[in-house]
Amino acid sequence: MTINLLNYDGKGLVDICTGIGEKPFRAKQLLRWIHQSGTADFAAMSDLAKSLREKLATMAVIELPQITYDSVAADGTRKWLLSVGSGNGIETVFIPEANRGTLCVSSQVGCALACAFCSTGRQGFNRNLTVAEIIGQLWIANKMVGLEVSDKVPQANRAVTNVVMMGMGEPLANFDNVVTALDIMLDDHAYGLSRRRVTVSTSGLVPAIDRLRERCPVALAISLHAPNDALRDRLVPINKKYPIKELLAACQRYLPSAPRDFITFEYVMLDGVNDSAAHARELIKLVQDVPCKFNLIPFNSFHDSGFKRSSAEAVRVFRDVLMQAGLVATVRKTRGDDIAAACGQLAGQVKDKTRRTAGLKIEAVQ
Ligand code: SAH
Ligand code: SF4
Repeated sequence: MTINLLNYDGKGLVDICTGIGEKPFRAKQLLRWIHQSGTADFAAMSDLAKSLREKLATMAVIELPQITYDSVAADGTRKWLLSVGSGNGIETVFIPEANRGTLCVSSQVGCALACAFCSTGRQGFNRNLTVAEIIGQLWIANKMVGLEVSDKVPQANRAVTNVVMMGMGEPLANFDNVVTALDIMLDDHAYGLSRRRVTVSTSGLVPAIDRLRERCPVALAISLHAPNDALRDRLVPINKKYPIKELLAACQRYLPSAPRDFITFEYVMLDGVNDSAAHARELIKLVQDVPCKFNLIPFNSFHDSGFKRSSAEAVRVFRDVLMQAGLVATVRKTRGDDIAAACGQLAGQVKDKTRRTAGLKIEAVQ
């Protein structure tokens, strides 16, 4: 059977190399060729013996998702639609800023968690992405943004300096593949990103937050979105299983291992739903024991969402109430909304396997 080398982190490649009678250090060379040089062709791997290159060509491939659509927004945000077979597509978004380039990476085809305000959730769920499909998004973005890659300090002139697991899907529901992909992002022989620059965003799968802490503690963002269980149950249905108190306790446990000394709480601002000054005050009480920063996200609309974005004034008042209580709160800039690349607008192409989309009218997606 042919294996796709993009599915393996350093440890996995060591096993493959020793399994065919090669020295373990070949794994590092392979990582560098694949991820630092962006090579998908064994013949080009000039410091590997010809016999090894030929052996690899008979048993392995380096296979990436296919780009089916590439669009650039007025603000420079770039979105790729990638085909992952059987009519399924995922989206990846690159957000260039003056001093960094952030890639928003997908972890699943669709999402089973069905948050009320999320376009991906509306699409239903098909399957988890493989490691190759997750790390392939970073491989493709670095290649497509086309900065020069130097062999000496490869990560210094990479296009992507930060990764946020905030694309389609719930990363912690695809734990093993996401963590292997994180290993590759952090490996100095691959992308060499620091833990502080890699963020996992979760709607709150409590046991998986604990496992992430033990296995690969990167920066953590929690999609909070409501100051009490009654409202959060409606907006983020997984709250019925893991209510706010348990979620905040998991955040407390995470902090000693976290690369940053705070947890980021994401809070989507929905007009008339969760955006009043009273909600902000309730929130302050709720998080008083958790070192945290708030990221307020103006709701990004999509067809038939049933929600409206909070007014700029409501967002300002909400932020001021939090800040007057000594909390750090920023308002996320909306990027790339003219190409439906903003938070929560990613829809890809999901062949829904759940019954979620039955009876719903879903817009055709570019
Ligand atoms: N499943 C993970 C990560 C993907 S969503 C999670 O839920 O955290 C990334 C962020 O975008 C989350 O905070 C999510 O709640 C938010 N989001 C979803 N739909 C949105 C929308 N329509 N407008 C603004 N933000 C949205
Ligand atoms: Fe899934 Fe996150 Fe969207 Fe909720 S917000 S449906 S967890 S992708």
